[in-house]
Amino acid sequence: MSDRLESLINSAPGKAILGALGVNPPPELRRYTADQATTPVLVDLGGNASSAVFQAVQSVLTGMPASHTDATTQRCDALIFDASHIQNPTQLDEAYRYFHARIRQLGANGRIVIFGRPHMACQTLSAATAQRALEGLSRSLGKEVGRKGSTAQLVTVAEGMESHIASSLRFLLSAKSAYISGQVLKVANTAAEHPGSLDWQRPLAGKTALVTGASRGIGAAIATVLSRDGAQVLGVDVAPMESELRSTMESIGGTSLVADITAEDTPQRLSELFAAQGGVDIVVHNAGVTRDKTLANMTEDQWQMVLNINLTAAQRITDELLASGALNDGGSIVGVSSMNGIAGQRGQTNYAASKAGVIGYVDYMTADDALRQRGITVNAVAPGFIETAMTAAIPFMTRQFGRRLNSLSQGGLPVDVAEAIAYFANPASRAVQGNVMRVCGQALIGA
Ligand code: NAD
Repeated sequence: MSDRLESLINSAPGKAILGALGVNPPPELRRYTADQATTPVLVDLGGNASSAVFQAVQSVLTGMPASHTDATTQRCDALIFDASHIQNPTQLDEAYRYFHARIRQLGANGRIVIFGRPHMACQTLSAATAQRALEGLSRSLGKEVGRKGSTAQLVTVAEGMESHIASSLRFLLSAKSAYISGQVLKVANTAAEHPGSLDWQRPLAGKTALVTGASRGIGAAIATVLSRDGAQVLGVDVAPMESELRSTMESIGGTSLVADITAEDTPQRLSELFAAQGGVDIVVHNAGVTRDKTLANMTEDQWQMVLNINLTAAQRITDELLASGALNDGGSIVGVSSMNGIAGQRGQTNYAASKAGVIGYVDYMTADDALRQRGITVNAVAPGFIETAMTAAIPFMTRQFGRRLNSLSQGGLPVDVAEAIAYFANPASRAVQGNVMRVCGQALIGA
């Protein structure tokens, strides 16, 4: 929150004026810090205790510092409802009754996590409609609790993948998902192997990561968070950003590579570099640019440049890393899409096309059997309004609307995107496949 309007809104007189107008100031989001307990302590779990998902949730909670509370009578930090057993719309009443009795007890920065099944894998039409209905329930709950900085999500778990929910549940309960709400996450890759025991403080220890556009903004945050979680990071950026890149990489003990990702030889340089050091495990295609003009005013160069950097270059790099064998089994490919790639944006036909293409990449690669068998996951994040140099360049009033039109009434921070990527890269997320997770505070307009 950097400009004068932000300071005014957050001052005591500003809050009083907004209060009188019935406009609430944005809630303060609690984010992850290593030295504070930032997972919920008081958790209420509802649903059918005999279901496999319910039991898997219970076992994850046992390994966390969470204690069970009766949220019908006490304040609580998280409400978890397992709806995986629900077979028809009438049975959805159970979800209504569960949340109706407890939702007032959910404290600030609270968490709601609903578990269900992928509706297209259901055996009956009634089960499919009831399971799909959970999306509307969880998204609306997100909009109802957002004012207090709380979030709500749905996790769909493929039959037999119950033992793979730990990374998703831990992430969604933690302060690492502070700016993520209204999302549906799929635990879907039935070929995934169980990771066994894991050091949850440093889940990426021993892993190597590539982050493009790593010198500043979201890329620098991704590099820093992956390094915090134990990964050795190679950051790439263009020559004009060399000194920023070096200082970011030095601060995390990473390696810098000055390269333009669109250059002919960059994919091969990267694959040779990684092949010489045991391969790469995590590939994050973060580098991106905007060249905004309405289509009528856009030059062909502006069109091509944005598509080349944001889409084609990333694809060429992954193709080469896969073809050369430099991308290790059990690895993760993470694309950086955008809310504008989902909803479209005036003046951004080039950018939105490139970012929608990133989603196409995830969809297509998710269906690749060879990749699934090798335990390589493909996912993307779709940031909404994140406070970076890219969004600081947006005209003042558009910027104010952009950052406030979401359930949490504020812009996100680069670290919010980075935490989502670290969750996808976690070895315990091998079944978390084919997701495009919006990191947008649940944007109120658009798709
Ligand atoms: P940024 O401009 O601060 O950083 C982008 C980085 O990519 C820069 O360091 C830039 O030098 C690098 N880069 C550009 N072209 C490159 C090339 N050809 N080769 C290598 N590096 C190159 O932007 P940001 O806000 O941190 O955005 C990071 C990513 O997140 C982008 O893909 C962007 O489209 C996406 N995104 C950002 C937002 C937001 O609100 N900031 C929202 C949605 C999506």
